[in-house]
Parts: sequence; C-alpha cells; structure tokens
Amino acid sequence: MVQVPEIPKVETVELPAKETALIVVDMQNDFAHPKGALFVPDAPQSVPAIRLLLERARQAGAKVVYTQDWHREDDPEFQIWPRHAVAGTWGAEILEELKPEPEDLVIRKVRYDAFYGTPLDHYLHLFGVKHVVVTGRSEERRVGKECSEPCRSRWSPSH
Ligand SMILES: [Zn+2]
Repeated sequence: MVQVPEIPKVETVELPAKETALIVVDMQNDFAHPKGALFVPDAPQSVPAIRLLLERARQAGAKVVYTQDWHREDDPEFQIWPRHAVAGTWGAEILEELKPEPEDLVIRKVRYDAFYGTPLDHYLHLFGVKHVVVTGRSEERRVGKECSEPCRSRWSPSH
C-alpha cells in the first residue's frame, strides 16, 4: 500500500509555458465514456474544463502529455478490476473530444503511476519541463497516484 500525501489546492497558478507540461490522465473511453467498462460517472463533466486547459496550454506553447492505460488481454490487473483499456480496443482510445495532436506525447502505461516503466521521466527532462499540471477524471485518488514519488521529488505538481 502506497500512501500518497494530499496536494494542496490553489485557485490560480502561474507557470512558465516553456517549462511546463500539461498531463491529461487516462481520459479514455473505458473510463470517461458512458459505454466504457470502468466508466466514472463524473468524468464527462470534466471534459469541457480539460478542453479549455488543452487549448490554453497549446496556445502558450506548453508541452501536452497524455497517459493511456494500456493492457494486454491477460493482464493480472484484471483479477482485481474488470477488463478495461485493452491494447488496440475502442475502450483504450482517448476520448474523441480530447484527441491528442500529432506533436503531443502519448505515454502508454500498465499501472496507475505514469512514471512506472515508461519513458515519461526521460521525455520531461528532454523537453526541459520543470512543472507538471495533472488533470483527468475528477477522481482525486487517481490523479494523486499519477504523480507519485518520482514525480513529486522532481516536479511541483498542480491539479
Ligand atoms: Zn488499468
């Protein structure tokens, strides 16, 4: 069991765009579409806000990163959770309304933590990112886990 400390909430944050990445967490059909396998009922209501964030981040020249839960058919996670986000399926696709642009970075991951076993850390360093803004389904627990120890020790997360 990993304990994730609370991240203090603030109303406004000003960050230098060139050193900032907006990370959109798992806004995939299986979680955020009403027909998805693990649909989170309040996910659709976060879509307009995320669209706005994406628009502003892109306009300002910030890096945009998407995480995408991405499992094999026989993933052991399915012993705990119903089958979801299986590689190549509709459920694993990012919501149509939030579709990544070609220049965005899409990080496929097998665990909650987007830093676990992925090149995310490498790319953030490569891009010169010093701040991350984490957004996704309005499910605090999930967003909290997304930015776990390796993230917290190096970047100042805002969400
Ligand atoms: Zn999963």
